[in-house]
Amino acid sequence: MRILFPASEVEPFSKTGGLADVAGALPVALASRGHEVRVVTPLYRTVPRAGLTQTARAFTLQFPFGEVPVRTWETTVAERVTVVFLDVPSMFDREQLYGDARGDYPDNARRFAVLSMAALTDAQAAGFVPDVLHGHDWQTGLAPLALRRGYARAFPHTRSVLTIHNLAYQGGFPKSALPELGLPWSDFVPGGVEFWDHLSMLKCGIVFADAVTTVSPTYAREITSPQGGMGLDGVLRAKQGGVVGIVNGIDTTEWNPATDVYLPARFSDADLAGRAVCRQRLLEELRLQPPAEGMPLFGVIGRMVEQKGADLLHAALPVFLEHGAAVVVLGAGSAALQQGWKTLAARYPLRVSVRFGYDTGLAHLIEAGSDFFLMPSRFEPCGLNQLYSQRYGAVPVVHAVGGLADTVTDLRGGDGTGITFLGATVDAVQGALARALELYLSPQAYAEVQRRGMRRDFSWARSAAAYEAVYAQGAR
Ligand code: ADP
Repeated sequence: MRILFPASEVEPFSKTGGLADVAGALPVALASRGHEVRVVTPLYRTVPRAGLTQTARAFTLQFPFGEVPVRTWETTVAERVTVVFLDVPSMFDREQLYGDARGDYPDNARRFAVLSMAALTDAQAAGFVPDVLHGHDWQTGLAPLALRRGYARAFPHTRSVLTIHNLAYQGGFPKSALPELGLPWSDFVPGGVEFWDHLSMLKCGIVFADAVTTVSPTYAREITSPQGGMGLDGVLRAKQGGVVGIVNGIDTTEWNPATDVYLPARFSDADLAGRAVCRQRLLEELRLQPPAEGMPLFGVIGRMVEQKGADLLHAALPVFLEHGAAVVVLGAGSAALQQGWKTLAARYPLRVSVRFGYDTGLAHLIEAGSDFFLMPSRFEPCGLNQLYSQRYGAVPVVHAVGGLADTVTDLRGGDGTGITFLGATVDAVQGALARALELYLSPQAYAEVQRRGMRRDFSWARSAAAYEAVYAQGAR
């Protein structure tokens, strides 16, 4: 099959979260199954230019708000995988991907309308006729609609699939965006792109795509229920074929403790000795006192947003820190949410280390050196860090929601790979941490849990096969 794959962030070129990991790895996994994938993404200022070549395809998109000249660059990341970069300096040559300290960029509706339209226009210019248009999140929400309208002639047999990586980001804009983007008012209806008197780009994608998927079966159930649907559950339930949940894979080459270049020592499920070296390095690098005898080192990595439940940790951790446990934290994001960590670190300077910023090497070292990985997300579509942590022997402690529930098996069953808890409350988190301490006191039982996690298969091959089945359904 030929797959057109517009995405607003793609590893290793641009990234704010898990979407980038998926857009970087899934195309490669699909290509190794024989498909041809064309990824289309913005040429942000931060995209490294090395290895990119400018193409002869330049075109101008016509919008009521104005003309947008687009030049394109491309590179081949694997056999049958081309990544096309949209060079539109007025829109993408900026400090960050979606916004700055003042908030989201005010012209995001236009910026990502350009991504959706340019992906289709560029494919047409290149003579790439896709069997499937596979878009991601609100940033590509206009593409399935465009496929049914302006591009229906060029691509009459192309099916569209939209994957929701996080329902919390809906791409809502004032309705004045409709005429600016050239959408008719007849679309501004509850069965169309209207959502609470705004234009919702995510809803647009959901309504007009032939199939909708999300990144875990449990999250698929959650978002089709009134409790988890954020107002879109009705639209999602109405989709023919339902919402298909497919758990993300991980890049098992980048995330392999036996070959990881970021680590001072390597290890595997057969020989865990190198882990102690990584733990030591982590403590030294972050200038932490080693935890008290028999007490664990906890690791936390993630965007600093309300979703990730850091406030629960701020309240739950002190009693464990008092007893000599330690915690390392890495995260980028809102200043307000950094404050809770700063307060904790000031109170326990030798037990708590907090790094704000984005640091891939440190992320690897935290997975390799911490004893438990904490992820009390209030909701979590899939989550990647708990997958890395299982592969690296950092036993995950997670809130049993979304992808966390689907990928971490609690110890209680006897074949567990981690500790899960129900309810986003401080009590529940403390109960789970107490269970972690108990497990840690029995080195043999702890090592068994580590090994079971390390042997789990989280490769992309399985997920790619599941996407292939969605693509094939009802192929036109
Ligand atoms: P989300 O997509 O909600 O941010 P995921 O767990 O699905 O959460 O994916 C987050 C990805 O970003 C993972 O690959 C994680 O390792 C990485 N990551 C997040 N924050 C940082 C950071 N501050 N430094 C390095 N990597 C980070």
